[in-house]
Amino acid sequence: MAKIRTLFKDISPNEAGFTLVHEHLYSHPPLWKISGDPDLLLDDVEKNAQELKLFHKAGGKTIVDATTIDYGRSAKALIEIANKVPEVNIISVTGFNLGSYYEPWVYEYSLDDIVELLKRDITVGMEGTNARSGLLKIGTSYNYIMKVEEKTLRAAAKVHVELGTPIVSHTTLGTMAHEQIELLLDEGVDLGKVAFYHMDHNLDFWYQKKILEKGAYIVYDCTGKIKYGPEEWRINMLKRLIKAGFLEQLMIAGDTARRSYYKSYGGGPGLDYIPTKYINRLREEGFTQEMIDIIFIENTKRFLSW
Ligand SMILES: [Zn+2]
Repeated sequence: MAKIRTLFKDISPNEAGFTLVHEHLYSHPPLWKISGDPDLLLDDVEKNAQELKLFHKAGGKTIVDATTIDYGRSAKALIEIANKVPEVNIISVTGFNLGSYYEPWVYEYSLDDIVELLKRDITVGMEGTNARSGLLKIGTSYNYIMKVEEKTLRAAAKVHVELGTPIVSHTTLGTMAHEQIELLLDEGVDLGKVAFYHMDHNLDFWYQKKILEKGAYIVYDCTGKIKYGPEEWRINMLKRLIKAGFLEQLMIAGDTARRSYYKSYGGGPGLDYIPTKYINRLREEGFTQEMIDIIFIENTKRFLSW
């Protein structure tokens, strides 16, 4: 029986409901040390739980915390948030984001060491806790793949082949998706269980169609981030992809990785932006309720189950 693995228990796919597949509920990233930008520190458990409650009030049921090991994931903090907001299903990832964030041990670990680590997160628990990951994450740099990124990608692919756990991918600014696909196929990965994040950074119809034709999902996760372009650009490309027959491979999220995106820290648009304002906009733009349900309920549960 297919399941979706949340922090503390496996749920039936039909229990997932309205789902966002790329958010951040807690992170303490090394990038903060480099940039000194406190906006990247999403580390106030109380405020993060408050924000998650807003998501739930807006109709949200399930959420992916896409914070990787190298981006300052904390199983302990996620457990605290989950205990404060038990009405929302939280799915945590295991895996890595970018080679430039990795600590030295990731370079030193063999491929097999990484495989063992990822498997332990999924089957036993993360960071010595009993909270488990339900999703693998890979990631590559802007327009190139570091050797060490290829190592962690191949490790995630091997774990996917063994356990069936789905894979999400960080594509920096929507690049290197096709090169990642080549490596994943080389490892025998089922592309129907892979979703490419950040594809709305690269609103290129040809590029996206080629990914979708191979059976993978794409995720638009700059929703609400007008600094990367108006919603109109994303919505127009979504319409074009739907017209081309790819509705069942599209997912939408907000990638809320900064304090300033959270209402609870005094910012916006907030974790409730997509289930409220953005969905109303989609309706006004001609998306039917059926299409919205396919994107946020049907596609997400099909992708997340294994
Ligand atoms: Zn993210």
